Amino acid sequence: MTIAAKFGGTSLADGSRIRHACNIMKADPERRFMIVSAPGKRYADDEKVTDLLYRIYEEKDSREDLLDHVFERFAGIVQELGIDFDLAEERREIEKTLAEGCAVDAIVSRGEYLSAKITAAYMGWPFVDAANLIRFRENGRLEEALTYRTARGELEEYEYAVIPGFYGSGPNGVIRVFSRGGSDVTGAIVARAVEASVYENWTDVTGIMSADPRVIENPHAVRYISYRELRELSYMGASVLHEDAVFPLKNTGIPIRVCNTMDPEKEGTWIVAKYPVDRGSHPVTGIAGKKGFSNLQIEMAMMNSQIGFGARILEIIASHGISYEHTPTSIDIMSVIADTKAMDPHRNELIMEIDQEFHPDRVFIEDNMSLIAVVGEGISANVGVAARVLQSIAEAGINVRMIDAGCSELNIIIGVNDSDYEKTIRALYKGLYEFL
Ligand code: ASP
Repeated sequence: MTIAAKFGGTSLADGSRIRHACNIMKADPERRFMIVSAPGKRYADDEKVTDLLYRIYEEKDSREDLLDHVFERFAGIVQELGIDFDLAEERREIEKTLAEGCAVDAIVSRGEYLSAKITAAYMGWPFVDAANLIRFRENGRLEEALTYRTARGELEEYEYAVIPGFYGSGPNGVIRVFSRGGSDVTGAIVARAVEASVYENWTDVTGIMSADPRVIENPHAVRYISYRELRELSYMGASVLHEDAVFPLKNTGIPIRVCNTMDPEKEGTWIVAKYPVDRGSHPVTGIAGKKGFSNLQIEMAMMNSQIGFGARILEIIASHGISYEHTPTSIDIMSVIADTKAMDPHRNELIMEIDQEFHPDRVFIEDNMSLIAVVGEGISANVGVAARVLQSIAEAGINVRMIDAGCSELNIIIGVNDSDYEKTIRALYKGLYEFL
């Protein structure tokens, strides 16, 4: 059996944390592939190495000082780990790359690169460069089939290895990175390539919470969550794993276990393709939400009899490059809900275009809407969840602006005023508590 284990930046922020992560790796001989992030924050207002590297690229005048800063951090790590490691040579390489006028990815990837090289030296394990495993297309998208094939072929050669997260290479070998937090995706790709029995994702929280701990004090930890539920919750603002981390594993059945480096004995959360357990009376897995949506509303008598009306409205929205979230409709009203930041710059044109083309009774945009999702595979199979959701909100005296029971029957989405956001989450959590 093989375990691929990814460690996040907070778990690798200094020498003693790296040593602790390495002890976790060594505690189970099945943990054969270690995927690492760049050192993260050691304390609340510390800077992540990756953020410093972005600054090195952007703030040309402070380059030397910032490089000093990054290399002081790595020097501290090397010293704490008590290993021999030639950092001066690594710095010369980065300076050379910068002088050649490289792209930003070549620099920001160096946090993971050095983190992995140092960790490999400490572990006495081989370092395998992600540039040789993960392949991007010219347009920055992952070249999936080639990546899995290459990674499988390369990693077959190793019994153990440390692999840097976050980056790979594009055509002509240029370094390309995933979006921020992308080491989670690297971990998933490695897990798939080596046909791991589990992908462990080691972080600084005890798994996934059923609600945002900034709003709900000590929310329940989620023991099992399906890929689909995780996707819904992440999309709605729960920050757990990188959005794309599930895709490589989706059709493999490899579970992801989110565990806490500070509390390694805890079970954490299992992200699974299908529930391996009878969930009993647990229809709801989590609650998540986001503020800052706008509702474009069109009211027009006999709207329902106009074939192609909805399609044309969505075409107008698309022609402005706006991606919408929901389109609740009733007989004579159609709403299109989108992020305010996306809708705002086009506000007047949208209203004008719709007005000119359809002469509706009313067309307007309302802002300050929050969307809150109650997510659970069990929602469809359990009678009364929607009733309880609405009852909980009503009892708290909150006015519901929109309800959308997702067609997947995986979620119920409620739109409320931004000012009611926290209150709604608290009311829902309380109301659904016995289900969780
Ligand atoms: N170090 C990168 C970031 O901060 C990638 C990662 O940690 O996953 O975004």
